[in-house]
Amino acid sequence: MTAALSVTGLRFAYGKGGFALRDVDFTVAPGRFTALLGANGAGKSTLMGLLTRLFTPDQGDIQICGHDLRRNPRAGLGAMGVVFQQPTLDLDLTVRQNLTYAAGLRGLGGRETASRIAVLLERFALSARAGDKVRLLNGGHRRRVELARALLHRPPLLILDEPTVGLDAPSRRDLVAHVHRLCVEEGVSVLWATHLFDEVAPGDDVVLLHRGAVQARGPAADLLAASGTDNLAGAFQVLTAEGATA
Ligand code: ATP
Repeated sequence: MTAALSVTGLRFAYGKGGFALRDVDFTVAPGRFTALLGANGAGKSTLMGLLTRLFTPDQGDIQICGHDLRRNPRAGLGAMGVVFQQPTLDLDLTVRQNLTYAAGLRGLGGRETASRIAVLLERFALSARAGDKVRLLNGGHRRRVELARALLHRPPLLILDEPTVGLDAPSRRDLVAHVHRLCVEEGVSVLWATHLFDEVAPGDDVVLLHRGAVQARGPAADLLAASGTDNLAGAFQVLTAEGATA
């Protein structure tokens, strides 16, 4: 089956500095929650910038659902929904207005826009807030609106860059649970960048990024076995220790 995301030999440097990403290889399998796990400065946001074409790779390929991002950017970007690290909703528009405008940009017609918004607000338990200005919503609800917006055009792949930054613990857990359910119930493939180990469930796939290189990748359980630890924080320490590879 074609991978939802396939990254091969990816290299990128900012200007003349050292490589922010070096020979990065990994895939996101269809319907899987894949955590891109790395400490501050590991290269997660740089990778997200390459996936969204904000930057151009110095070397390597990105395929999104079989579409080469360089040769066929429209199809590649069209197959992807994105939640950036910084919130980008208009606070003075209502939830429905934010979503309606985004649906228009994606080329959805009026009837489809109304039905997609209804379905997504229901899925993320936001129907009662549709007419509220975003300014009135708490941080967790705002993030759920951004999730809904990213899914309006039914993308098979969803990528999120540290989406829980600034949320309190219950809102964090809630958002993580919503996105895990999307994988199981809707078959959406997810790449979730984080530095927080507790956002990764035992059944998830993990890509462990360290100083711009993939240090380990595979099912979370395999990483634990390879590191001889029973928790991801311990595995991270072992697998990113000087000279370690998995
Ligand atoms: P964080 O969790 O702090 O957001 P990250 O894993 O997303 O970290 P990046 O922001 O991708 O990491 O940074 C990777 C490396 O690239 C770091 O060494 C960082 O200092 C460097 N870097 C990031 N942005 C720039 C830039 N605009 N110019 C130069 N170097 C940069």
